[in-house]
Amino acid sequence: MDWNFTRAVVTGGAGFVGSHLCERLLSLGTQVVCVDNFTTGDRENLWELLKTPGFSLLEADVTRWPSEPPGPIDLVLHLACPASPRDYLRLPFETLAAGSAGTAWALDLARRHHARFLLASTSEVYGDPEQHPQREDYWGNVNPIGPRSVYDEAKRYAEAYTAAARREWEADVTIARIFNTYGPRMRADDGRMIPAFIGQALRGEPLTVAGSGTQTRSICYVDDTVSGLLALAAGAHSGPVNIGNPHELTVLAIAEEIRRLTGSESPIARIAAAEDDPRRRCPDIGLARAALGWAPEIGPAEGLARTIDWFAARTSPARETEKI
Ligand code: NAD
Ligand code: UDP
Repeated sequence: MDWNFTRAVVTGGAGFVGSHLCERLLSLGTQVVCVDNFTTGDRENLWELLKTPGFSLLEADVTRWPSEPPGPIDLVLHLACPASPRDYLRLPFETLAAGSAGTAWALDLARRHHARFLLASTSEVYGDPEQHPQREDYWGNVNPIGPRSVYDEAKRYAEAYTAAARREWEADVTIARIFNTYGPRMRADDGRMIPAFIGQALRGEPLTVAGSGTQTRSICYVDDTVSGLLALAAGAHSGPVNIGNPHELTVLAIAEEIRRLTGSESPIARIAAAEDDPRRRCPDIGLARAALGWAPEIGPAEGLARTIDWFAARTSPARETEKI
């Protein structure tokens, strides 16, 4: 990868994906300004970063048009947005604002600096897909007024805004459609299936599988997602490009794999299916392979084992003593 960026702004850099991205940027020699208001992020994600030369934090809400960070910028990565269903369902207006006003602010910043801009969009723009696997030229099947619409439509709007900036301003932009990503630093209480199942398995509680459990997801380990985002930023493709792992699994199979890897004897418990829950989701990553030379390298067994180790270390008695 040909990497020439000297100073990047990462909105949402205190979050799960954002904090890994900040770390990787610094390791490539790029300075990082993280812009975050900690709505769903975690200050703990920044503990090490704040000690690293080249990293700075601007605590601000991107939807309120904050003053721009001082200094040069040649890359803007816009990730700020509540992302788990539990978060965006409790923060509907904040989520809509992150996709609309937040995207406008981040794009305006990129425009004024002639910086490359990357939007962190989502597989949710495909809604409950009628095409499988999903390719970038599929327009999606989204309920515009259902509970998930605050997230799906905010991201669709953000994509539209980004595409308009390319057409009208000739801005150097790209769009990543990120599929379900998991790994260390997910919040234990964010409600997403992987932290939920791991926490339940480690505590010996039932694993709460929603609906039939036959709905599918294709889960990508965070290190692979970050590599994909950086490859997309480094190139010239304007997107959208799917970034995800095409290894498709049912939700029940993911729960069972987590039970196996933790050695847990927790039973599977059925809970009500989520409204408008996509039944299938799997990326076609042909474009990412061809245009970026990128493909994920870490399979579910390896990635889940690493994630379980991280969660287990956080809940260990030794760590509880450390906190005291
Ligand atoms: P996250 O909730 O851990 O991170 C989001 C970060 O954005 C948090 O630190 C939060 O405090 C910050 N934020 C939210 N609103 C803000 C605002 N108005 N101003 C400033 N900061 C704000 O979520 P994540 O899983 O790390 O997702 C990061 C991005 O990637 C999101 O844009 C999400 O839509 C996208 N994405 C993630 C996944 C995934 O599986 N994790 C999949 C598809 C897309
Ligand atoms: N899910 C589940 N149990 C949980 C949390 C989620 O069965 O405790 C299901 C959810 O209904 C969906 C899938 O797991 O079918 C993925 O949900 P998640 O919130 O992780 O991500 P999504 O892809 O829906 O954004």
